Amino acid sequence: MAQMTVQIVTPDGIKYDHHAAFVLCKTKEGELGIYPGHLELIAVLEIDEIKVRRVDDENHVDWIAVNGGIIEVNKDLITIVSDSAERERDIDVSRAERAKLRAERELEEAHNAHNIDLEMRANIALQRAINRIRCGNR
Ligand code: ATP
Repeated sequence: MAQMTVQIVTPDGIKYDHHAAFVLCKTKEGELGIYPGHLELIAVLEIDEIKVRRVDDENHVDWIAVNGGIIEVNKDLITIVSDSAERERDIDVSRAERAKLRAERELEEAHNAHNIDLEMRANIALQRAINRIRCGNR
């Protein structure tokens, strides 16, 4: 059976390394579905989930929350480099809920202070938290 290797790398090391039959991710240009034999490419990822259908069990799907980054497809090796990545089972949802509340508060404060830089940073923190909550609840 045709398969791909999916490796997700962060500053903490290799966070995911498995054989996949199909991968779905969200790039800046839109959703990208990858089967074995896909054209080579490099794309910028959104803060979103990576969906991996494993080869060892057709019904088994892994979800990994990534903090943006880069995806490279090179033959049947998919490499994702991101600031952080967590599998659904490793996500502490209550921590992400607290991060969400903090980001919402910071967003409001930055908005009221007309601080665009802080507003952008709070918005990114909010997206990270929302992504983790959704992934951790799967
Ligand atoms: P927090 O404010 O809760 O620390 P954060 O968005 O600032 O969240 P990051 O800087 O993106 O956190 O990540 C720091 C480290 O903590 C990374 O290794 C990341 O994988 C891990 N991490 C962050 N939030 C969670 C979570 N809710 N569950 C599990 N690991 C997490």
